[in-house]
Amino acid sequence: MNKTTTPPLGTCTLVGAGPGDPELLTLKAVKAIQAATVLLVDDLVNPEVLAWARPDARIVHVGKRGGCKSTPQAFIEKLMVMAVRDGEHVVRLKGGDPFIFGRGGEEVEHLRAAGIPCSVVNGITSALAAASSLGVPLTHREHARGVVFLTGHAKPGAEETDWEQAGASARALKLTLVIYMGVREADRLQAGLLKGLPSATPVAIVQDASRATQTYCTGRLDRLTALIEAKKIASPAIIVVGDVVHGVAQLAAQEQECRTAS
Ligand code: SAH
Repeated sequence: MNKTTTPPLGTCTLVGAGPGDPELLTLKAVKAIQAATVLLVDDLVNPEVLAWARPDARIVHVGKRGGCKSTPQAFIEKLMVMAVRDGEHVVRLKGGDPFIFGRGGEEVEHLRAAGIPCSVVNGITSALAAASSLGVPLTHREHARGVVFLTGHAKPGAEETDWEQAGASARALKLTLVIYMGVREADRLQAGLLKGLPSATPVAIVQDASRATQTYCTGRLDRLTALIEAKKIASPAIIVVGDVVHGVAQLAAQEQECRTAS
């Protein structure tokens, strides 16, 4: 009798690879990477974490940085579904935390719609790495009662973030603003935020947080774009806005340093 058999379903795990330093991977992430037969890897993931993968694991790079040629999101999602249906243990390795920007939510929704359960392993999101690398807390009893993670880069065609409102809310509620994907839009962010926040509000911009290539600048909000240009900060970078980045003398000295370094 000719009986066709379908392989048992594999598994799918969205794994946060953290901000870059491979030592910031969680133990759970390491275990998931070790168990994977297929890894779909974003370009913000430090390749060093792939050292944990099995030698026979299939590693597919599906990076898609803003403005660069990229693997379409729909293709990545299709690949995940097909591999799980083939019985593979799929790990979707994403920079930082899988559920902070980076479209992890869309991937999980797609898998669930295809009847495939998906588990998620947290990673340290780059905002946290950026702040701790500067020794800056994102909340503080004196300076910040909360923190807001915002994207500087809205979905194409979507309504632009109201930066004036974001600034005004941060001021009224004593919130730190942490902006992902904001460097290329810095002039618009600066103009909008300045309508809601004082010019002298401290800012920090951190590129490549937690990596050997990490670089940063601190200064005042009204010099955000100038600071980015002076230090030639590029993506991936995090912008932190708020009084947690304080110490005016220190800021001025560091800004001076940025100017002379440029
Ligand atoms: N899921 C990721 C964010 C993906 S969106 C996370 O949790 O960190 C991509 C943006 O994240 C980048 O444009 C940049 O703003 C930020 N980012 C990622 N890694 C970074 C790093 N090492 N240093 C600074 N910013 C980083």
